[in-house]
Amino acid sequence: MLRLPPFTYLAPKTLKQALQWKKDAGPDGMYVAGGTDLYPNMKRRHQEPRVVISLAGVRALRKVTDRRIDGSADLVLGAGVTLTGMVEHRKIRRRYPVVAHGAALISTPLLRNMGTLGGNLCLDTRCTYYNQTYEWRKAIDFCMKKDGAICWVAPSSPRCWAVQSSDLAPVMAALNAEYLLVGPDGERVVPAGDFYHNDGMRYLTKQPDEILAEVRLPATDGWDATYHKLRRRGTFDFPVLGVAAWIRWEGDTVADARIVLGGVASHPQAVPESAAALVGSRLEGEAVEAAAAAAFRPSKPMDNTDFPLTWRKEMTRVYVRRALEELRERRTAPRGRHHSA
Ligand SMILES: Cc1cc2nc3c(=O)[nH]c(=O)nc-3n(C[C@H](O)[C@H](O)[C@H](O)COP(=O)(O)OP(=O)(O)OC[C@H]3O[C@@H](n4cnc5c(N)ncnc54)[C@H](O)[C@@H]3O)c2cc1C
Ligand code: SF4
Repeated sequence: MLRLPPFTYLAPKTLKQALQWKKDAGPDGMYVAGGTDLYPNMKRRHQEPRVVISLAGVRALRKVTDRRIDGSADLVLGAGVTLTGMVEHRKIRRRYPVVAHGAALISTPLLRNMGTLGGNLCLDTRCTYYNQTYEWRKAIDFCMKKDGAICWVAPSSPRCWAVQSSDLAPVMAALNAEYLLVGPDGERVVPAGDFYHNDGMRYLTKQPDEILAEVRLPATDGWDATYHKLRRRGTFDFPVLGVAAWIRWEGDTVADARIVLGGVASHPQAVPESAAALVGSRLEGEAVEAAAAAAFRPSKPMDNTDFPLTWRKEMTRVYVRRALEELRERRTAPRGRHHSA
């Protein structure tokens, strides 16, 4: 059985207290929300905080509020809202079904009861050579992401290629949601796409002390979106490919689009060439094929998750096509929005 190492657990009630206790702990401290990613990682000695500061008791993080900030945000989700809370929330389901759908595809019901939006968006990157026990990693002399010097996926590479594996990160990037970060020096707002680095070790642009406090969803004015996820077992596996597609319609024509891939890089990978192929089209035939081909080209999965990488790359084309077909069908036969995997 894998055991947690000893650590001090602190349970602040306010953001201010959490920030102060994190500052006091310095690099030895880490935040935890639901713990469904951090605690397994601590058991495998990926992260070894001596002080764990829980955000679970901070009520301000658990709210879902209607709010317009400079006219740009329609619904604001506290980062501490659980995934189950998101799936069941009436306003999220009705106004942002793609968000509820993305949350519903994450792991299992028990993990969704504990796991939070913030924890999902700050999820550690994953790799076959990393998500292993300490003894397993020691047997291969570790790797550069933790305790070692080499990348076993690309041994001559100076960087780590561990994979962005959050289902909601590509969805938030495609929606152009904004994240509110609260830190010791004040607050700042960043677009979801800018929150991530394409680097398996430094995958967040957030400072270690900063808390992701809320996610601001844009107003629902004439756009539609969907998320398709590839994984081996539909019951609880991480994505090895995710396709988030966002379309703004003007009549029967696509006025704007965003396509973001998950699971194929160390960050949610926007593919502007794919989106550009759709603008001005009716989301049919050649435009969809051009968008699928444009997403296929830069999709470069590495050999460090499930399934052969050439097949995963090929599936990019298939999943982009499927996502766009779903959006077109919904437009031509409107029965309210729904989303499928
Ligand atoms: C078997 C299994 C299957 C899974 N399947 C999936 C899957 O299919 N898709 C998927 O996306 N995930 C999956 N997960 C991962 C995880 O359950 C979810 O991503 C979950 O949402 C993580 O949230 P959490 O609150 O438990 O995060 P935690 O473990 O509490 O935290 C994760 C990281 O985020 C940081 N953090 C948390 N909240 C904040 C905040 N507000 N501000 C700043 N930093 C913060 C923590 O310090 C930590 O580094 C799976 C996990 C398991 C064990
Ligand atoms: S991509 Fe390379 S460095 Fe990164 S976790 Fe995998 S083996 Fe380690």
